Amino acid sequence: MVRLRAGDRVRVRVNAGTIVSPYSDFDEVRVFEVVAVDDDGCYLYVPHYLFLKGAYYIDPSRAHKLKIEPRFHQELMTYVAENMVAGVESQMDGERCSRCQEFCPMAKLAQPEYIFLCWSCRIYPFR
Ligand SMILES: [Zn+2]
Repeated sequence: MVRLRAGDRVRVRVNAGTIVSPYSDFDEVRVFEVVAVDDDGCYLYVPHYLFLKGAYYIDPSRAHKLKIEPRFHQELMTYVAENMVAGVESQMDGERCSRCQEFCPMAKLAQPEYIFLCWSCRIYPFR
């Protein structure tokens, strides 16, 4: 499994409004945008027009803790374990700044374990 990040889009199987495992029977395959990740899985943005059981609001404290982009605040999301992801639809080319969360297209880490800081945060550490 590739390392997922916020901004990536993943495919999951949905059966009767519930996300099911990649090996289960399903009604449809849906593509969701990843808004945050943790060690075991990822948080997926759920558009309001889509009925999905178990979707919940991205409240401010949760958003802050998970470093979710402001445009998703008060939207709906759901959590899936990594083994529920049926496939990766697209991955963002670039890095997200670990301080201000700004996404920098085309940015690349010198080493996978490095923490990425955008140009502005590097030049103005106290902005
Ligand atoms: Zn930054």
